[in-house]
Amino acid sequence: MENYLVVAAFVIAEFLGALIYFKTEDSVKRTLLTCLGLGFAIAVVLLDIIPDATEDFSAGYWLIVIGFIAMVVAGFYTKSVGKYSAVLGLAIHNIAEGVIITTEFGPISPILAVGAILHKLPEGMVSFSLLDELEDKTRFAIAALIALLIPVGAIVPISDSITKPLMALSAGVILYVVGNLLITIISKYYVTEIDKGKLSKKHDLNITTLSSVAVFGAVIAWISCLMA
Ligand SMILES: [Zn+2]
Repeated sequence: MENYLVVAAFVIAEFLGALIYFKTEDSVKRTLLTCLGLGFAIAVVLLDIIPDATEDFSAGYWLIVIGFIAMVVAGFYTKSVGKYSAVLGLAIHNIAEGVIITTEFGPISPILAVGAILHKLPEGMVSFSLLDELEDKTRFAIAALIALLIPVGAIVPISDSITKPLMALSAGVILYVVGNLLITIISKYYVTEIDKGKLSKKHDLNITTLSSVAVFGAVIAWISCLMA
């Protein structure tokens, strides 16, 4: 495997992102990390996954729409399916990233290392935060396993004809699930702000803070895409 240092940087950064979330026990800080990760994920789908999935593969756009609609429908019945599907989408994204690292990336450089950290750290947080129905330890174990799919993609030759359709489907899935979740979380604090008079103000979480953190996450994603 060439570029094993780049692969290692990606894996370690994703692992660290999950670890930071794992070690953060304060629920306010966790909410902030969640919004950061979700804002990041939306931007990654738009700037990274969709362009890769649809390059020389125009049917990809239809698969994005199908993935999106499938999650809208699933959302009527249960929220869990969407969250697990989105985690699966991130897992597929990691395999694809492993493939790209070996085929398109040059050797490791300081810029690439920083880009890897900026990119994978929030992704580790996203996987962890989406698994909120499970125990923390299980969440961490799954997030760590997902990080290990990067070297799998780097070692096992997987053809574009398999990764592109899967990436396109997961793009639609992640976009809906993450977007829906972000709106749900932020709107919850919008209500809090309206009812502020009635509620005891325990912390400073409000719609402005949460939206700013999500936008900040999106900016990190944009910068990381420019660097890597
Ligand atoms: Zn990525």
